[in-house]
Amino acid sequence: MPEVGESVSVASGDQSQDPDEQETPRECPVCGAVWKKKEPTLGQVRRAIQEVFSGFKVEVKALDAAALLGYRGSVAAGVVGNRNKPHYGYEPDIRGECGTKYDIDGFLISKKLFDTLPKDDKGRCWGSRDRNLRALQSSLRRALTGRAELTHMKNEFGFRVWHPRDQNYVTQHGAIIVIW
Ligand SMILES: [Zn+2]
Repeated sequence: MPEVGESVSVASGDQSQDPDEQETPRECPVCGAVWKKKEPTLGQVRRAIQEVFSGFKVEVKALDAAALLGYRGSVAAGVVGNRNKPHYGYEPDIRGECGTKYDIDGFLISKKLFDTLPKDDKGRCWGSRDRNLRALQSSLRRALTGRAELTHMKNEFGFRVWHPRDQNYVTQHGAIIVIW
């Protein structure tokens, strides 16, 4: 009768017996890239964003105590929602296997900021149009791109500032609000 240690080492060394190890590699149905990685998961990516955003609560509330900060887009929704992108309808490329990168589409909902900041010619208000918001955007971008889970995001981050009357529109399609 083999000793316990011996028996275990034989079983773990013989991986051809493990049906999981013989799994056929999956392929991206859009670009044909081979998907081998299992991490980061969408949950890990969302947790990293949640942690980064949460770390800026004091800064956000200093701009407007009633402000909400969150993000929308493919990571929040779990699928690429832009019909013009080839990977429309599929999970964003969070493991970097399709080489498409993804962005984190931030938003700030604040009547105070929306009412006081300049708008573009379509009446939209962007974080890049204000010095304090630009500083906040840069700090968030640095913190996000510094996270190992977010290695495959684009090296950019910005947010649009919305009036609270548009909150239902902004938060449809799985948007995630991190700071209330
Ligand atoms: Zn692909």
